Amino acid sequence: MNILVSACLLGAYCRFDGQLIEDERVTALAEKHTLIPVCPELYGGLPTPRLPGEKWDGRVYDKSGADVTEFYEKGAEAALRFANLTGCKYAVLKARSPSCGVGIVYDGSFSGKLVPGDGVTASLLRQNGITVLTPEQLDELG
Ligand code: SF4
Repeated sequence: MNILVSACLLGAYCRFDGQLIEDERVTALAEKHTLIPVCPELYGGLPTPRLPGEKWDGRVYDKSGADVTEFYEKGAEAALRFANLTGCKYAVLKARSPSCGVGIVYDGSFSGKLVPGDGVTASLLRQNGITVLTPEQLDELG
């Protein structure tokens, strides 16, 4: 099946800090599934590298205090569109990101504290019936 995946988990140059990461648990999914990589923050118009963002009180702010919610919302809409166009019922997303985080995100204080909640994209995907998982939850794919 087609699975939407946070592009940074596949080694794409799209993380806020410009670091390249690759999660082998996620790349291994390509043996059985077709992975559809998306980076909502780039699709919303943000560059790499960029200041980190965190959710607070229903908005997203970058570390300078600028309200960057619009970029995050545009990116979430693009990710949902691609999920629908490609028939993805599942998304495997980077944990704790203000866009992609599933179930837990940073609290907006830029101090490393975590609070319950979804990133902007994870939330929109979930609201539209797509099951969102972190790389720690891949057993749920069966
Ligand atoms: Fe990765 Fe998502 Fe952040 Fe893009 S928005 S770098 S895909 S966690």
